[in-house]
Amino acid sequence: MRIMRMKKTIALGVLLTIMLIALYHRYGSSSLIAEDIERDHSISSIFPESAEKNSHFNTAVQHESSKTESSKDFLAINDAKENLENTFNQNSAIVSKPSNSDRLVAPQNANHSKTVSYDQTEKEMKPMQDDFIGRCWNTSGIHENNADIQVSDLVEKLSFQSEDTNHGQFRNLQPIPKSEKLTVFLVPHSHCDPGWIETYDYYYTRDVRRLLTNLYQFAMEHHDFKYIYAEVSFFSLWWKEQSDNVRQNMKQLAREGRFEFVQGGWVQNDEANTHYFAILNQMLDGHEWLKKNFPEAVPRIGWAIDPFGLSPFMAQINSMFGFGAMHIQRVHYSVKRHLAENKQIEFRWRQSWDWKGETDILTQMGPFTGYNSQSTCGPDPDICLHYHFAAFTNPKFSKDRNLVRTTSSNVKERSLKILDQWRKKAALHSANAVFIETGFDFSYIFKESISEVYNNYKPMMEYINNDPDLNTQVKWGTVSEYFDHIKNSNVKFPILSGDFFTYSDRLDHYWSGYFTTRPFFKNLDRVLESSLRRTEVLFAFHRAKTSTDKLTSARNILSLFQHHDAITGTAQRKVVNDYADKLLRAYNTCEEVSTEAIQNIMGTSGFQPTKHRPGIKDMEKLRILDKTVELLISSTLARRLTAVQVISVNSQHNFQVMRSDESTVPQQIEPAVEYGKFDSGSKHLVFWTDLPSVSISAFKVIDSGEDQAERVNVELYNFNSKSLAMSLESKFHTVSYDSSCNDIVLGGEKVAITLDCKSSRVKKLKTDEREVAVVQDVLLYSDKGGAYLFLPGSTSQLLTDSSRPEIIVTRGPIRDKAVVTLKFLSSTMVLTYIVNHHVGIEGGYVELQTMVDLRNSGDLAIRFKTDIASGDSIFTDLNGHTIQQHKYKSKLHTQGNFFPMPSTAFIQDSSMRLSILSSEPHGVASLDQGWIEIIIDRRTSQDDLRGLGESINDNVPTPAGFRILVEPRAEKPPSTDLYLVEFPSLASYWTLQSLQHPAFIVSGALGQLKNQTTTMQLMKSLPCDEELVNFRYVQNQTCQLIRRKLGFTCAINTISSCDYQDLQLSELFRETVWIEEHPFSPLHQASESKASNFKAMQFSSQYVTFNSQPND
Ligand SMILES: [Zn+2]
Repeated sequence: MRIMRMKKTIALGVLLTIMLIALYHRYGSSSLIAEDIERDHSISSIFPESAEKNSHFNTAVQHESSKTESSKDFLAINDAKENLENTFNQNSAIVSKPSNSDRLVAPQNANHSKTVSYDQTEKEMKPMQDDFIGRCWNTSGIHENNADIQVSDLVEKLSFQSEDTNHGQFRNLQPIPKSEKLTVFLVPHSHCDPGWIETYDYYYTRDVRRLLTNLYQFAMEHHDFKYIYAEVSFFSLWWKEQSDNVRQNMKQLAREGRFEFVQGGWVQNDEANTHYFAILNQMLDGHEWLKKNFPEAVPRIGWAIDPFGLSPFMAQINSMFGFGAMHIQRVHYSVKRHLAENKQIEFRWRQSWDWKGETDILTQMGPFTGYNSQSTCGPDPDICLHYHFAAFTNPKFSKDRNLVRTTSSNVKERSLKILDQWRKKAALHSANAVFIETGFDFSYIFKESISEVYNNYKPMMEYINNDPDLNTQVKWGTVSEYFDHIKNSNVKFPILSGDFFTYSDRLDHYWSGYFTTRPFFKNLDRVLESSLRRTEVLFAFHRAKTSTDKLTSARNILSLFQHHDAITGTAQRKVVNDYADKLLRAYNTCEEVSTEAIQNIMGTSGFQPTKHRPGIKDMEKLRILDKTVELLISSTLARRLTAVQVISVNSQHNFQVMRSDESTVPQQIEPAVEYGKFDSGSKHLVFWTDLPSVSISAFKVIDSGEDQAERVNVELYNFNSKSLAMSLESKFHTVSYDSSCNDIVLGGEKVAITLDCKSSRVKKLKTDEREVAVVQDVLLYSDKGGAYLFLPGSTSQLLTDSSRPEIIVTRGPIRDKAVVTLKFLSSTMVLTYIVNHHVGIEGGYVELQTMVDLRNSGDLAIRFKTDIASGDSIFTDLNGHTIQQHKYKSKLHTQGNFFPMPSTAFIQDSSMRLSILSSEPHGVASLDQGWIEIIIDRRTSQDDLRGLGESINDNVPTPAGFRILVEPRAEKPPSTDLYLVEFPSLASYWTLQSLQHPAFIVSGALGQLKNQTTTMQLMKSLPCDEELVNFRYVQNQTCQLIRRKLGFTCAINTISSCDYQDLQLSELFRETVWIEEHPFSPLHQASESKASNFKAMQFSSQYVTFNSQPND
């Protein structure tokens, strides 16, 4: 019934759109974009009167007037903490009423329409309860979040062809009429990448130190001058070097609104590959630093001018951090052009699942291609370039571009020309106000470049402000001043829902390469995230026994790597090496602090982790244990974890594992095969554990004289060399298969995978007793792209091993495993398939681990072709949190059909869902019905001309981890016409969590444990639909408890037992604790709100204080 209704609405919407497009064309000459009007730079034709009249300007008057303006605005910023709620909540009160039309009505008198007109008919607001049944989501509805603009509809509608020639530019834009007053805020900024062509440290030493000093000194000398800054990672370095006097002055500039921090994260994070844990970490790092050192600078505006594609999850984060608005930039040129033409670059960004719009945030998209001076002043970059005054400090550039300074003889002509650009830009905005970013990457490293900007704009500002006929006010400003201004304009902003992937800046240049570029470091990032999260939780429970310096340094390194040229893999080689060095340092720090915390809690010493990373380009390896040892195994998930553990032991001993009370543990002994390599000197002891929530459990590894653990049976397929067989035969029951063999089936009744023994390819998958037929291919795309762009040719090459691939199969009571080694061209790929016989509480899955050593140019992908009738849809996650549907579009090139997969992708039909969960981010696509393919690694032989200047060929052997789930769906079949708001199953969340956060094992000499506790539980389980995101030490015995409420589908119910029991938070802890609601940002005051507001898909934050009452 609902689907029928929605179909009708869509049909109506489409009809309406067609009619509007027709109208739009008919009135083309008077519409916003007048296609046929010739470019006309003659100012007098636009402002004939003013061009004649005002040729003078008055410095004194202007100086006074801008001062007055400023001091008025100081008040608003001065008390930012208090105002934050009021200021933007008022705004939200104005606009959060759903405007409820399916399609926008185009501006009728488009040139001059002040506000966009919407169908005001109130559609019945859909009650959330209809779709949110008990704890899970009924997901058959579409677009029911009352948004005016669904990006998915827009993508459906746009041709993605005709506009390719001008890349979404608006050279024929008409200015807003003179009768409408325009307010212009010139906002000096400098975009500083914490690592790209140069390293973070070198950029600081060479550029950022100078530019921050220059801007500060200039602001101290010029009272009407203002500026903004974004990256706390750089700013904190500068702050450390400043005298107390400078710091006090900066605080005064912030109080007066002459300096503003935007976003205030440690970096401006990438939005495609990043995970919510790390995004929260980097935001908290930035805001905590500000709270401690510079609390006068409370960021109020989100700022993402350079990330290559944008995620609505950042809108949720920004809303959580108390921002009133946000500014974004890099959106596909066709989408951007369409939104701009319809005056929709300012909108309230709504989460797909947020029926009530409680997390909406006012968002503004820069309408032009870039954030640099040459493209922000207006639609014509050739004109803007002539106002790029900072370039005077680069003689070559200023000469090439014929830059001229503003003089008394040219001020009129120069003023009118730029005013024309501003007024044209204003035509794309709703409130007759624009802010113009003045600056570029690392701008203002020369003091003279600020003077040039200031001194050349100043006479023009005065000229314009002093001519009433121009009806314009121009001033130096900050971004929050701009948003405060438009907030007062009573404009009703449309509601937009959806994501902005995959980004393209011109032609068929889609930025989908960086979803996979340098996967080794993307994997290392996730290993570090897990390691840091575990360290945080363990540290919180043994807090204050050691200093927080090490923890802070590890946090800051993880944060640094979230930068949009770091985790993206788009920095130069030397910079990547520098990041790697830092990441490894942070990893070792976390291992050290975790181990120390475990030892302190358990009252022991001398333990070390059973895994390690020997060097920056090495994968995690198992240490070989050659003595009897005590094992301490910790899990920091806030629920029970049933999982297989693997340790490596010297093959000379007959080791077995038992609990510390000497009770037995199911276990088996496997040949030591790591990343496809066999080590005859060691063997793997594989055992099954059942670990309570947030706990440390004690086990022993002892030499029992003879084998207690069961030895696995080994099958060798397609092995030409007998040496491996011979070395295995002495230890294991071994069978070799040569020319004739049947299918290889791993697993049993509930979960199984079938491989073709000749080709080694997967044929069938079964989990939860559901079976899917699969053809699995490994393929290589040729690629003319580089670090950012994926530019495949029309076909990809299927990779087959010239000889039959070697397969080692091991079968035992704990698990079956197949290790397949593929050799093609000069590259190697090892695929390890694992099926556990003990199905854990999350249900069954097939594990796939890959190790690829890519030596050939191109993009290496694994493609699963299944018999699932998935239509043209694939579902992928955004930042590990929200699920976004994408439909294959033949009108886009292959590269435009690839999307980021930070952790999850699935395809489904009416009865089944196939999910692939990953431990690291990848690019993913579904290029045909039933297909799902993941890029594993890439290597390019050329640069893609986006400034990096290097090809990407520094590949190293790279691991990746996946879990594959086949789940039954019990819900009416979704129509393939519809866009769905979807959710993972609860089982899928749990499976992913245990993949991302495996148990941590340390070993030490037997007899060290002072108490004989088998298990120390530190925190009780959360309700089964809640996740412990972080338990982060703040100060003075206080930790920030961050939880996430999972939004999961009702259509899949594979979890047999689930405890939804809500707890009093204090009951979670063994000790007495004080708990207070606290906003995410430490810069804000503790709030009165109650945890009862904590709903599915939301995060919650509390401060938990141990032992003593909170003292601030
Ligand atoms: Zn950047």
